[in-house]
Amino acid sequence: MAFVLDNVRVVTHGNATRVARVAIADGVVRAWDAACPNDWPREDGGGLLLLPGVIDPHVHFDDPGYTNREDFPHGTRAAIAGGVTTVCDMPDTCVPPVTTAAALTAKCAALAGRACCDFALWGGVSALALEQPAWREEMAALWRAGVIAFKTYTLSGMDTFPQLTYAQYREVLRHAAELGALVGVHAEDAALVAAGMAAAVRPATDARAYAAARPVAAEVTAIRRVGELAGELGARLHIVHVSSGSGADEIARLQRQGVDISAETCPQYLAFTTDDLARLGAVLKCAPPVRSEDERQRLWSHIGTTISMLASDHAPCTPAEKNTPDIFSAYGGMPGVELILPFALTYGYHARRLTLQALTGLLGGAAAARYGLARRKTGLHVGGDADFVLVDTERTWTLAGADLHSKGRLTPFAGAQFRGRVAHTFVRGACVAPDDPTTPARGAFLRAEH
Ligand SMILES: [Zn+2]
Repeated sequence: MAFVLDNVRVVTHGNATRVARVAIADGVVRAWDAACPNDWPREDGGGLLLLPGVIDPHVHFDDPGYTNREDFPHGTRAAIAGGVTTVCDMPDTCVPPVTTAAALTAKCAALAGRACCDFALWGGVSALALEQPAWREEMAALWRAGVIAFKTYTLSGMDTFPQLTYAQYREVLRHAAELGALVGVHAEDAALVAAGMAAAVRPATDARAYAAARPVAAEVTAIRRVGELAGELGARLHIVHVSSGSGADEIARLQRQGVDISAETCPQYLAFTTDDLARLGAVLKCAPPVRSEDERQRLWSHIGTTISMLASDHAPCTPAEKNTPDIFSAYGGMPGVELILPFALTYGYHARRLTLQALTGLLGGAAAARYGLARRKTGLHVGGDADFVLVDTERTWTLAGADLHSKGRLTPFAGAQFRGRVAHTFVRGACVAPDDPTTPARGAFLRAEH
């Protein structure tokens, strides 16, 4: 299959664009502009903006395992609908968790032929995994097999994937440093949150009680403790879903000290505050919780510098798991893979907080570089995979939760107006329609190259 996609615009620098065309054969970019063959069939891009396909570095598609919440067929269709062409799936909400090479093999087998976009996979290390005498060998085997990084928790609510103590972090980070492996951290200090939970009045009628029980100080403390260990041991660190400006300040301080630490945040932390949580309730519950307006504004100030990636932390659930009498017992998490690009266009580009060039770094370039995916998945260079999204940057639309392609459709963005809409998504040269049930599931495991 070879064709030339004609009449598109591409970003040159800042918000500047130019008209372009691109030649694609066998799923790979072959040439740009004047170098495109004249005798290949042409497709008209309609003058739309062509962006690199988005990489979502943090999703929970729960498959195999908790597929009542989400599965790969639904999750990857939602990705396609949102212009996401590569997802990086977490190791902790599938069964068994990906803490051994055998579990990785089993997960890849279970997902074969069921994904509409390509997927990279996280490995993980939990306190349960550390009970296995061969945990170091398993980490090494997972790293060789191409996981992008190892997910860990300083605070976990999952029996199947318990958190690490700081003493255990020392062991894990020392081994990761020997491997050259990257360790991802859910950063909330367990002792500070335990104290907050003990002090919380329950059952809580005001959702602010949930946010107060998991304070900003818990995030800052966990980042500092694990970050300083990583600095001492020479380990590479990534902080997932940074929720506060104060957390980002702490990461910036560690970066200035020379610690190899990167970070991501999510639309929910950039769009909402604890006042919204009080208004919307469990639909906006996530962990860590959303923060104050001051923290939200200061978090924005770190975007594109301290925080190089935007992730969805896509984690839907059933309506019953959200509709509990008390927010403390409600499921924490929400769907989001379909919204990160429209979010970044609306709240970033149109709100003049992000240039289009910065947006492409946040939505893929930084993740590709950090996670060993750059040879195939960086931008649109000749020889790379022809993953891209055609966007109508000016189209305004209003989100209804029922329109989402995910299994779970309860979103705090329901009713929100977006400006910028995905028109077409191409995965390795093939235009994939998320609503077409005959769309072949051509997505494959994308092995990280370390
Ligand atoms: Zn997560």
